[in-house]
Amino acid sequence: MLSIETLAAELRAVVGDACVITDPSELAAASADLFPFPAPPPAALLVQPGSTEQTAAVVKAAMRADFPVVARGAGLSYTRGLATTSPAVVIDGARLNQIDIHADDLFAVVGAGVSWQSLAEALAPHGLRSLLGGPISGAVTTVGGAASQYVPGSMEGVIGLKVVLADGSVATTGSGARAGALPFHRHAGPDLTGLFVGDCGAFGVKTELVLRLVRDQPAAFASFAYTDVTALLADMLELRAASLATRAMAIDQSRGEAAGKVEAAEALRTVGAVVSASGSALDAIRGVASMVRGRAELAQAQWSLHLTAEAPTEEIARQMIALAKDRCMRSAREIEPTVPTALRARPYSIRGFVGIDGERWVPVHGMVAPSRAQAALNDLQALFDRYESEMTRVGVRHSYLMSAPGPFVTIEPMFFWVDALDALHLKHLSARNRERFAGRPPNHDARQLVARLRAEVRDCFERHDAVHAQAGRFYRHAERLDAGSRALLARLKDSLDAEHRMNPGVLGLG
Ligand SMILES: Cc1cc2nc3c(=O)[nH]c(=O)nc-3n(C[C@H](O)[C@H](O)[C@H](O)COP(=O)(O)OP(=O)(O)OC[C@H]3O[C@@H](n4cnc5c(N)ncnc54)[C@H](O)[C@@H]3O)c2cc1C
Repeated sequence: MLSIETLAAELRAVVGDACVITDPSELAAASADLFPFPAPPPAALLVQPGSTEQTAAVVKAAMRADFPVVARGAGLSYTRGLATTSPAVVIDGARLNQIDIHADDLFAVVGAGVSWQSLAEALAPHGLRSLLGGPISGAVTTVGGAASQYVPGSMEGVIGLKVVLADGSVATTGSGARAGALPFHRHAGPDLTGLFVGDCGAFGVKTELVLRLVRDQPAAFASFAYTDVTALLADMLELRAASLATRAMAIDQSRGEAAGKVEAAEALRTVGAVVSASGSALDAIRGVASMVRGRAELAQAQWSLHLTAEAPTEEIARQMIALAKDRCMRSAREIEPTVPTALRARPYSIRGFVGIDGERWVPVHGMVAPSRAQAALNDLQALFDRYESEMTRVGVRHSYLMSAPGPFVTIEPMFFWVDALDALHLKHLSARNRERFAGRPPNHDARQLVARLRAEVRDCFERHDAVHAQAGRFYRHAERLDAGSRALLARLKDSLDAEHRMNPGVLGLG
């Protein structure tokens, strides 16, 4: 193994002095995510290449020096996707930030380090958006991170990519793989794009993605309060199956209460976004009044369902919502559509990455088939009932988010507890909240309980055949495959990365 100093000097010659980071606190943060327990070893080096060619040179040098290589976006995941067991060369995508929009051909070529928010801002003047909406954390998280982890829903919106393989070679997928050809189509022979979507970086470092664009469409919204979660689940699934909602999301009361308590500055930003998305001054006033009323209603609803319908005209979108309302009103009461209106006006925010009082937060999720959703939810509830007194004793609470991003349900229980926050949290908090929440002592008992609960929730999902985004090193992937499928995955890994140095351990690939 080459010394770190020799490798660092070699990499400085490739990417420039400022782009090889050796500061110990940055190296510690580079391998951590939002639930870094137990703490992973710090990165060996943090490197910021500015092009595919530089990335290839960094990968080659790191491999020659016998270091594992890990690509990183914003580091805002929570399944140990960056946590190698020995120090790695971490490739940060911050300088892979170009956005090249082909409005007529409805695609954009985007650097892996571009955030969803920057992409949305670049596309807005064209009246376009990415077909793949990206995660809620897209205010800072990257296109490369989402494509590498998979976002619940369809990944059809990724139509090609450029990836640096372990030997330093560069492969292009989709129709752009023919030299100089337009990358406008994903399916051109075997779907090699799919091979790298959701690979957690085990097969290579993505440097560039080609994303399908669609026209922005008018939208209509509705929200409903339920007392019966069974009826809510049935309605949510039926509305998606009938294509009456393009987005359907449900939250429990505890999450609804938190939505009404956001920091004033944060609430103002959301109100500002709602006002600027309104068609007229009157719409804006109505929108703000509705948000104020809606916050109180959310806090009182045992469960609430939030629908968005997008369609070529506002009239059609409203008709879709009217039909959805006919169905929901059989078991629910209509409330102000605060949540879907705010989500549409401001789709990306990382406010939720700590609780309302600065608690640590970590979710677990499972995507289950409609026929399994109710049973999975019942089992989860039984699990939380069993742990109720222990959770109360160490100060851990939970709440639920559910959505139907396709013909399945994503159930996402999340945990909150008062604990020390990390540099990653402090970096993204407002100055006021940094002051309020920094310096708390570590709460080891709560961390241990959350770790145990997360594992039990994961096991519970597995019993209901759930699949997961963000496999990382937390959800079991290779381990759950049958022998033939596991062997295929292992052979792919062996042929792309013979020495298993590309983010070793993710997907259960050692
Ligand atoms: C408030 C909040 C809301 C969230 N909402 C959602 C949501 O709605 N939906 C959702 O799915 N997730 C959500 N997440 C989880 C997480 O933010 C997303 O999964 C996000 O896509 C992670 O992106 P990132 O840039 O931070 O990736 P990172 O955490 O940096 O990386 C994730 C994984 O991808 C790999 N990787 C990153 N970039 C590359 C690359 N260029 N090439 C190869 N591999 C790479 C990494 O090695 C790692 O294994 C949320 C998180 C927070 C904090």
